[in-house]
Amino acid sequence: DALVVCDNVVRIYQTETVEVQALQGLDLLVHEGELIALVGASGSGKSTLLNVLAGADAPTAGRARVAGHDLTELSRSEQVHYRRHVVGFVRQQAALNLVPYLTAGQVVDLPMTIAGERRGVRRSRAAELLELLGVAHCADRRPVEMSGGEQQRVSIAVALANRPQLLLADEPTGELDSETAAEVFAALRTVNRELGTTVVVVTHDAAVSGQVARTVAIRDGRTSSEVLRSEETDDA
Ligand code: ADP
Ligand code: ADP
Repeated sequence: DALVVCDNVVRIYQTETVEVQALQGLDLLVHEGELIALVGASGSGKSTLLNVLAGADAPTAGRARVAGHDLTELSRSEQVHYRRHVVGFVRQQAALNLVPYLTAGQVVDLPMTIAGERRGVRRSRAAELLELLGVAHCADRRPVEMSGGEQQRVSIAVALANRPQLLLADEPTGELDSETAAEVFAALRTVNRELGTTVVVVTHDAAVSGQVARTVAIRDGRTSSEVLRSEETDDA
């Protein structure tokens, strides 16, 4: 089944002097359970697309639907529900996903507390997620006590705390050395495989895009007609 359907999505940014067409009629279909890499030159519209899918930025024209939610006409309260329960977001800079004075256990707990989950559920789910991502040993550590790769894997756990159907990651390995980047990407694959979460990851890293079953190229605000397809992998 389709989880993400973008149909002719346009996003125009109007500044005082110019009109920027960040998305110019973009079409995209992502099925439930897929893991796709979004690639494209700087300025091609990748972040704008992620912001649309995150429910943070409405399209100027066209249709965007995620899990039955029409992102062109989300009311304020639907937007709150959508961002809390339907999507998770991981930023490039791990530190921005975390809170300096909270331990990994506490920061994973936070979105669940905001969503009103009971304490027992929060505690067991936080422990499960940290375990799945290979950072159970970080549960009582604050960000300064973790490596960059650990911080980013904890960030992924935070994004998954309320069990979103769609995980969006904007160059999550962009600031990491290649070995650590591979480790973080492996964590995203584990999430996709074990939890069934659909994952859309923006990346410049050819080593990453080479490992996914489907790579979608964005060019000038559109999905490029030349869609790259990497070799099939075992668990694709
Ligand atoms: P990418 O993530 O692929 O680098 P972006 O989605 O960030 O691309 O940007 C696409 C285009 O939209 C660029 O030309 C960028 O300058 C422009 N843009 C993005 N956000 C804004 C904004 N808030 N105001 C004006 N222009 C913007
Ligand atoms: P308390 O343990 O008394 O609730 P904390 O501030 O240490 O206080 O933790 C707050 C919440 O953060 C916990 O209820 C739990 O949901 C989560 N949490 C903290 N540490 C851990 C951990 N090591 N493993 C799993 N969850 C944790």
